[in-house]
Amino acid sequence: MITVRESPQHGRGVFADSFIAAGTPLLTFQGPLLARTQLDPNDYHLQIGEDLYLGPSGKADDFVNHSCEPNAGFADGLVLKALRDIAAHEEITWDYSCAIDEADFAGFPCACRSRLCRGVVRSFRHLERPVRERLRPFALPYLRDRYR
Ligand SMILES: [Zn+2]
Repeated sequence: MITVRESPQHGRGVFADSFIAAGTPLLTFQGPLLARTQLDPNDYHLQIGEDLYLGPSGKADDFVNHSCEPNAGFADGLVLKALRDIAAHEEITWDYSCAIDEADFAGFPCACRSRLCRGVVRSFRHLERPVRERLRPFALPYLRDRYR
């Protein structure tokens, strides 16, 4: 259903092999559970709790790029699902602010080029309220619980 290959946006990305209908589960994020002090800054990691991270799994979930107007989001914990129909060969993206919530995260410049691009990817807590409300339904559960 999905393939990892070079992305025009950033490094490697994950692409749909064929049409994927809205609501389809795409992959589940996996990897070793780590505290922030255990992270290797050069390795892929995903924040899943206040001081809880997933390290690299070596699988497709390590390579899904960010978009401020993503076609995928979280459902049922760490399952990434299609938020809308995805065309064959389209790159699969999720919004990294749906997972990151570090108080001291400076953010990084975004090159997603979507109409909704915020310019900088920030912690969930640093988003403007309307943006947070829009992202909340497909953010990770720890963020949905924290920002009711
Ligand atoms: Zn963007």
